[in-house]
Amino acid sequence: MAKSCPRTSVIVIGSGIAGLSAARKLTQCLPNCKVTILEALSRPGGRINSVEINENEFMEEGATWVHGIEDNPVHSLIKHNQVFNKYHYLIKYKFCKLNGDEVPTEHIKKYKRIYRKIKADAENIYQDGSTLQNGEKSVGEFLQKEFQRKLKDLKLTRECENTASSVFYSNSLIECCICGCNSLYDLVLNDFGEYEELGGGDLRVRGGYSQVIKELLKKLPENCVVYNSTVTEVHWKNDHIPDESSKPVRIVCENGEQFFADHVIATQSLGHLKEYGRALFKPPLPQVKLDIIDRMGYNYITKVHLRYQTPFWQDKFSRVIPLWDISPKDVVTKPSEFTKETWFRHIYDFAVHPFLSNTLEVWLSGESALHVERLENEIISDACTDLLRKFLKDPSVPKPDEILKTSWNTNPYFLGAYSYVAVGSSGEDCDGLAEPLCVENSNSVDVPRVLFAGEATHRTFYSTTHGALLSGEREAGRLISFYQCKFK
Ligand SMILES: Cc1cc2nc3c(=O)[nH]c(=O)nc-3n(C[C@H](O)[C@H](O)[C@H](O)COP(=O)(O)OP(=O)(O)OC[C@H]3O[C@@H](n4cnc5c(N)ncnc54)[C@H](O)[C@@H]3O)c2cc1C
Repeated sequence: MAKSCPRTSVIVIGSGIAGLSAARKLTQCLPNCKVTILEALSRPGGRINSVEINENEFMEEGATWVHGIEDNPVHSLIKHNQVFNKYHYLIKYKFCKLNGDEVPTEHIKKYKRIYRKIKADAENIYQDGSTLQNGEKSVGEFLQKEFQRKLKDLKLTRECENTASSVFYSNSLIECCICGCNSLYDLVLNDFGEYEELGGGDLRVRGGYSQVIKELLKKLPENCVVYNSTVTEVHWKNDHIPDESSKPVRIVCENGEQFFADHVIATQSLGHLKEYGRALFKPPLPQVKLDIIDRMGYNYITKVHLRYQTPFWQDKFSRVIPLWDISPKDVVTKPSEFTKETWFRHIYDFAVHPFLSNTLEVWLSGESALHVERLENEIISDACTDLLRKFLKDPSVPKPDEILKTSWNTNPYFLGAYSYVAVGSSGEDCDGLAEPLCVENSNSVDVPRVLFAGEATHRTFYSTTHGALLSGEREAGRLISFYQCKFK
């Protein structure tokens, strides 16, 4: 049982939600275990970061929605505080064409149903285990073909066909953001439906998503997290090198500091592993692991906040949804479609921030996201203002007083936003990434020496905060089982 556990030590790389949940579980269930978290940044939370704009008013740089209530461990961490605010603010939709003509919501709804139905058919390919008749490999191919087939059946007027295409395009842009990919043509079709949604809808956290991080930190010993410590080398077969601690894992940080432990749990983003994974581990990761890292999908997201002294929209809308003029043959953006001149055509809405009433929020994915992250704020401001004036047919729409944008994609500790199952990969790769590197001990027992957690290692909840949290607990559980301790 827990008390009879031998002394052991674990280093966790990264104080994101996966690293913190792993550390919390180890601390709770293995009393003789010393846990140290090495974090590159000067703050905890990783891709969860709520920035306080005004007193008690937060802007989420990263995770924004709590995806589901039922059995969601992230929701359980904060539910007692009543911090959630449902979609109440998304009621006043304005669907507008570039010439400013508005299309009634009722009209839009029937075309949105087409999107939903075709998307559900794509998901069902995994659920039913059905083999594909037409050999489509990507979600994009499937959606595009099925949309055109549906259009033929519906025999719409040219105008209605245009509206249906715009609505489909808009939804496929949203899907790219949800999935964190550049194009739905990059997203594998067969396993699309393996991602699991938790019941209860998507919710936002009034007092800042980082509350979750604060809750997790409360359960950790003081000084458990060592900040400003970028890990540059993980020597995981240190067995024959005599050193002060005779521990089998030696970690070297950028600042020259060294740490020794019995096990290491790596929780860096897939983007970081893609870029640095080859050089980080000594000996190198097995080829099979490197191939998985290469195959798996991971891409860019940028959030832009347009801040105004006074909200010009007053109560007129809570969301402006552009209806881009799109040919029915191009309702799903292709990977090669991005150009620096047309990045703004990937904007699918301007949404009033639910808690910052003078702020409009815009999300972009893929190459457009990376481009916007590097653009000067003035250019973003001009482009967005021009669009809003056109879509709202109102030349008096003011320029924002301030632009705040995120920088996950160029930050070396993230290099993107979240993972997806790419064409050429499969759900099995998430499990493959999670496989620990084991070393046989003198009793011929396989010791899990390097363990992997993080959102990309969760097969059905990848890309989410709850997936990341559960992955951390899973790897802590692996060590707890190894030491034959009972879970609490
Ligand atoms: C813009 C954006 C929007 C999102 N929206 C949502 C959402 O609405 N809902 C949702 O559920 N999820 C969302 N996500 C995804 C969610 O934030 C992540 O899935 C989750 O936070 C990942 O947690 P993690 O612990 O796996 O990784 P991370 O949070 O990336 O933690 C890894 C940690 O490792 C550190 N690190 C990296 N390299 C090193 C190194 N060499 N040495 C030491 N430390 C290192 C990093 O600094 C980081 O703190 C969003 C993400 C982004 C970027």
